[in-house]
Amino acid sequence: MPKKNKTVKSTHSKQSSTAKYIYAFGKKSDGDVSMKPLLGGKGANLAEMARIGLPVPPGFTITTEVCTYYYEHGQTYPKTLDSDLRKAVAEVEKQMGKKFGDSKDPLLFSVRSGARESMPGMMDTILNLGLNDVTVAGVAETTGNERFAYDCYRRFIQMYGDVVMGVQPRHEGEHEPFDELMGKLKKERKAQDDTDLTAEDLKELIRRFQSLIKKRTGQSFPQDVYEQVWGSVGAVFGSWQNERATVYRQKYNIPVEWGTAVNVQAMVFGNKGETSGTGVAFTRDPANGEKVFYGEYLVNAQCEDVVAGVRTPQPIAKLAEEMPEAHKALLKVCRILEKHFRDMQDFEFTVEEGTLYMLQTRNGKRTGLAAVRIAVEMVGERLMTIKTALTKIPAESISSLLVPVFDLRKGGGARKIASGLPAGPGAATGKVVFSASKAEELEQKGTPVVLCRVETSPDDLRGMIASEGILTSRGGVSSHAALVARQMGKVCVCGANDVVINYSKATLTAGGTVLKEGDDISIDGTTGEVFAGHVDTAPSEVSQVLDGKLKPEKSYTYQLFDRVMKWADKHRTMKVRTNADTPAQAKQAVALGAQGIGLCRTEHMFFEGDRINFMRQMILASNEKDRRAALKKLLPFQRRDFNGLFRAMGGRPVTIRLLDPPLHEFLPNDNATIKGLAKALGGSVESIKDRVAALHEQNPMLGHRGCRLGISYPEITEMQARAIFEAAAQVASGKKRVKVEPEVMVPLVGYKVELQNQIDIIHRVAKEVMAKKKVKFKYLVGTMVEVPRAALMADEIAEVADFFSFGTNDLTQTALGMSRDDSGSFLPLYKELDILPQNPFATIDKNGVGQLVEIAAQKGRAKKGDLKLGICGEHGGDPASVVFFHGVGLDYVSCSPPRVPVARLAAAQAALAD
Ligand code: PEP
Ligand code: MG
Repeated sequence: MPKKNKTVKSTHSKQSSTAKYIYAFGKKSDGDVSMKPLLGGKGANLAEMARIGLPVPPGFTITTEVCTYYYEHGQTYPKTLDSDLRKAVAEVEKQMGKKFGDSKDPLLFSVRSGARESMPGMMDTILNLGLNDVTVAGVAETTGNERFAYDCYRRFIQMYGDVVMGVQPRHEGEHEPFDELMGKLKKERKAQDDTDLTAEDLKELIRRFQSLIKKRTGQSFPQDVYEQVWGSVGAVFGSWQNERATVYRQKYNIPVEWGTAVNVQAMVFGNKGETSGTGVAFTRDPANGEKVFYGEYLVNAQCEDVVAGVRTPQPIAKLAEEMPEAHKALLKVCRILEKHFRDMQDFEFTVEEGTLYMLQTRNGKRTGLAAVRIAVEMVGERLMTIKTALTKIPAESISSLLVPVFDLRKGGGARKIASGLPAGPGAATGKVVFSASKAEELEQKGTPVVLCRVETSPDDLRGMIASEGILTSRGGVSSHAALVARQMGKVCVCGANDVVINYSKATLTAGGTVLKEGDDISIDGTTGEVFAGHVDTAPSEVSQVLDGKLKPEKSYTYQLFDRVMKWADKHRTMKVRTNADTPAQAKQAVALGAQGIGLCRTEHMFFEGDRINFMRQMILASNEKDRRAALKKLLPFQRRDFNGLFRAMGGRPVTIRLLDPPLHEFLPNDNATIKGLAKALGGSVESIKDRVAALHEQNPMLGHRGCRLGISYPEITEMQARAIFEAAAQVASGKKRVKVEPEVMVPLVGYKVELQNQIDIIHRVAKEVMAKKKVKFKYLVGTMVEVPRAALMADEIAEVADFFSFGTNDLTQTALGMSRDDSGSFLPLYKELDILPQNPFATIDKNGVGQLVEIAAQKGRAKKGDLKLGICGEHGGDPASVVFFHGVGLDYVSCSPPRVPVARLAAAQAALAD
């Protein structure tokens, strides 16, 4: 439990007595929207809403600097904070005409966290603070509503007991203990809903809550209102470093130093009867981006009821019937908010006896699809410029327009058993799991899972990350499950009321079907449908249009995609190529906007059909003559492959890399295949086994691979160069000629002489082919930069290279001395311990590996001004890395075909940030 007010009085010598730790909002607001780092998102926006005249109950924000101070000083506060807080409370008292702790008509507060970036469900909220056994009677008296007063008090005790005093479920299978007591009482009183409980029932509930707290903690629920404030403030700061906040921060790379602010605000009440209510709404639909007022509310409730999914709320459209005035006022608020903040807003409101109050607004979290649609439509409505729209769409989100959908024609016996709210688009299929820990366990074994919960809580975060999709039986579109899934880009169906989940029996029942843990389930987060069984998936609408199976005018999703991609292409300066080894991949990538092939891994071509046997024959050959004979058989296959690639790319540049992996990767190591091979090649089993043993390496990644192969076996380089150039000659002549300019790439070069050795072979073969075929074509010869020596000696190497392509997979491996194949066993721990917050094989290590890229680019270009520079490691499809490569001045990034749109958008965002 955090320290109470005695530690608040602790002193710190360096502390400035004039530092401002508390900012007011209300009639007079000290802050504004620009002060998010100091006031957090919620505090800054509350101040801004108050400034533009929206009805915001008064309050104050304790800054994020206090959070930093709190952690730097052994969980204590600056010495002036106590008196500052009392002054701020007095100001709110003045505005509200009530006194905090007053026994007759007490002022009550809410206490909420508010980090710089919103962390939905991560931090804890406390409502109705200031109630105790005495003040509750005052509230009952002044409002003339005893039931309301005791309802507020039981809620406060529950939140405080949970968040501050730590009375929570003790294990995954246990229900929330306060809810359990509430459920028990409801059963005893035969009450259907919470609202059926009388004031007397609630008094009894409060007694049970207080004794639960005493029993579990040994402490009494505090009656002193300032003790309540400091307990709550400490709990908010404490929650900044709790496990679920830490997991969230790691996933979204939110620095721990940012800290959270605390917002203390005068309470308004949505639980004062039928003319009161509370809700959460979005100015547009956060699931698909449609411009409709979207959200939900509960009559006679407090806002946590909506978010926690305890009662399933009403859709906001119904408010127009139930409280037409409030609905009208909210529509006006929507327009004001969007015009002012120029983005889709997600806000919380309360209606107290017919009067509307705004409790929060922020840029709404949205799915990838919604991000694209909102940005495009806001440009049309002149709420955003194209440039702003491009920066507002997270590059990653464009890929959600390409996610598969269910192919119901191939239902495979799956039956629809229920439907819920579509909260995260896409199609997910996997095994039913009921707990976060099971989800993680199966995911680690490579089994796709769908996490099925009555409702999710922040404790389920790890399980949600591990799941393909999330299904909840309770809660609305702003429930925790929906918010988090939306942000993670997870498929999610929530509030599927017909689904009954029984944790103790580990069953999910719906429509007469009972599914057990481990059974197949499929959920469609675009339509909200739930299916028992496995459903195959089909390509997205965008892919169907690109494949010519759907007309562009029939798909709005495609039109949105196309618009954003065209805008991105207009603003980016860096080109985007693809890593492709087959004409089919190349065509897919071109359809997605690839401007060339940045990497064709030729070894992938050796695994098809019969070729592997010729390849094996070549490897097993004991002399050059036999080797050449085998290579001669491989040549036509390679030539045909390259011909196909050149044609598929229609004149765009194609970089072909010579053989890279060590030869033993092509040999079999199981007895049956060895026997078959011996028979096919007419050799003995023993000779093959001997050769496999002879080729064995302790460290194949650092062994006989890359250009070392071509140097040891020049005939391999010769065959590959011949296949490339003969294909180029074929494509560049004849009837259906296509412009072609092959870029031949030598892997794993560390020394200029290594590259020179290979270049000599390549030039000689090019000359021979051109003379023989009587065709002239241009070609380039370059190298991969994927070992630190190549980067450091880039000036020397550039003397003979036409281009560099950074192989950041190997460059990361060799710079870090960290195996790209084995790092999975310790990197998750590194992430958890914050040693390496990001996987360096996914996002470039800018300071280390990135420095090598910068050095190589500078040295290479200093020697050869027109040296072409690209990158073809996996980082080419990672938005943060793409931004870095733009900064280094690379000509292109190359990534897998599905990542091409992401890279195009990220490259535009990088250019716009210049
Ligand atoms: C690299 O090392 O980054 C690269 C692209 O080559 P490969 O992944 O084939 O080793
Ligand atoms: Mg490599």
